[in-house]
Amino acid sequence: MGYSLLNDRIVADEEVVVNKEDRGYQFGDGIYEVIKVYNGQLFTADEHIDRFYLSAEKIRLTIPYTKHKLHQLLHELVEANEINNGHIYFQITRGATARNHIFPSADVAPVLTGAAVEASRPITNLENGVKATFVEDIRWLRCDIKSLNLLGAVLAKQEAFEKGCYEAILHRGETITEGSSTNVFGIKDGVLYTHPANNLILKGITRQVILTCAQEIDLPIKEQAMTKEQLLAMDEVIVASTTSEVTPVIEIDGQKINDGQVGLWTRKLQAQFATKIPAPITI
Ligand SMILES: *Cc1c(COP(=O)(O)O)cnc(C)c1O
Repeated sequence: MGYSLLNDRIVADEEVVVNKEDRGYQFGDGIYEVIKVYNGQLFTADEHIDRFYLSAEKIRLTIPYTKHKLHQLLHELVEANEINNGHIYFQITRGATARNHIFPSADVAPVLTGAAVEASRPITNLENGVKATFVEDIRWLRCDIKSLNLLGAVLAKQEAFEKGCYEAILHRGETITEGSSTNVFGIKDGVLYTHPANNLILKGITRQVILTCAQEIDLPIKEQAMTKEQLLAMDEVIVASTTSEVTPVIEIDGQKINDGQVGLWTRKLQAQFATKIPAPITI
């Protein structure tokens, strides 16, 4: 039997039902996070929780718990489900009330829900690399918010899936922004490129870990947007996220990157990333 997070309680999954008047359900009026669990431990939890509060602030939603309390609840969610390796998903909406675009009155409480999933690391993709396809970025101009509104991402990912690709690499005109649910990196002549963290991308926690890893292995960084043409000419391309980790891209729209081989810098970044994964707790 599984357990879910419902506001400040861990409850049986069946206890969580959607209210048809929930603003998350009706408007996508809420925000979310995904945190990876390695060996029973939450990875970069503080960073994710900080971003959760920041996203909430940006949509003027006040989370009625302290960060410490939320961290505790997420930990309990992992424990209750006995997750060893996997991830947790959690979201908060602006609450349930008669449908109206205007914010509800202060007595309407936000609704926090969360679930834990056992899932293995994407070993095959990490080893062999994946294919990607270019899709026009039709999302709104506040991609810095981890909003529940994901239609732009859903349509892009579905298009990629139907083309046999793992990820849609989004572009606004000629400029690469990010993946549908990942951040995009290119490596050319020993320099790591990625889109600057502004309103056009979600500032990934994995992106931040990779930038730290790059510094640690003496790979210079340029937070500078690439064009589609420049991305195709990169020596190495990576898509990265909490669940995808450091995934090599070996082909975009049929054009091979690095002759379809995973590059050396990518391997070094993967190895450096692996040093940060929490080890099993031994007594
Ligand atoms: C969540 C997300 C990412 C990756 O962020 P992580 O914190 O690394 O998981 C990248 N792009 C988009 C659009 C996202 O929603």
